[in-house]
Amino acid sequence: MLQQTQVKTVIPYFKKFISEIKSLKKLSSTSERKVLKLWEGLGYYRRCRNLIETAKIIVKKNRSILPKTLIDIKKLPGIGDYTGNVLLALVYNQPRLALDGNVKRVFSRIFNTHEKKLDFEKIIEKNRKKLFFSKRNYDFVEATMEFGALICKPKEPLCSLCPINKFCKFSNSGKNTKLTDKVKINKKSYNIFCYLNKYKQIGLTKNNNLGFLKEYNLPIVEEKSKKNKLKNWNFLCNYKNSISNKKLDINLYYKFSSKIPRNLNWYSICNNKEFIPTFTKKIFKQVENLY
Ligand code: SF4
Repeated sequence: MLQQTQVKTVIPYFKKFISEIKSLKKLSSTSERKVLKLWEGLGYYRRCRNLIETAKIIVKKNRSILPKTLIDIKKLPGIGDYTGNVLLALVYNQPRLALDGNVKRVFSRIFNTHEKKLDFEKIIEKNRKKLFFSKRNYDFVEATMEFGALICKPKEPLCSLCPINKFCKFSNSGKNTKLTDKVKINKKSYNIFCYLNKYKQIGLTKNNNLGFLKEYNLPIVEEKSKKNKLKNWNFLCNYKNSISNKKLDINLYYKFSSKIPRNLNWYSICNNKEFIPTFTKKIFKQVENLY
């Protein structure tokens, strides 16, 4: 849940999830529909599917035991170097660092060098004894990430409070060296089409051919030219949304029709039992006003 999502956002979802699904075995045997419903609103739904798949593999093929090596743990769906290292440190107390953006920034500042110039694996290997002197590796891996988030903050690092400021080259140089690249924001315009019928149903698809919005969604196409006039469609509204590093400028169109294209299915706007991504639910609210 914490991949690409802030802790404060995750907490209520985590509590609800853990109160319903209390064990790995339970997770492996709960329907995907039910688990996705618990995840609804948190986004990046592939994480949820990977989690279910991973639980099934561990329960069925590994006697409910998490693999103990990075090579084996990375064979599980959705687990790469970062998550694998975190899990091995937290679960098995192995001496490991998880190189997220926060930790990379701390290293970049200590050496006062752009993170692209640093060989992190080499630095960790060379300083193994200095880094992993405590027996509490599970705390250390979390502390390094928290340190980057709370002390060595992206914009204004709290150097005067920092316990390692004596040997931090960034703090001692007084120079503001460029340490990381800014994340490129992708701005694009899209048209979203709502087929509506008299039963308060809307046409949804899973094949929108875009690299995002992989769950049930409304038909959406990128708007290449603003000059295009859409015949037979009524303009409903324009609104802005952000997904990951994409800024979306969306024009919402609708029409009432008893028929829909083959790749769409009718779905009741009032049905709250099924899992529907937040992005689509926001549009449902706009459409409700038309009835
Ligand atoms: S001294 Fe400042 S820049 Fe250096 S690690 Fe500490 S908080 Fe980060």
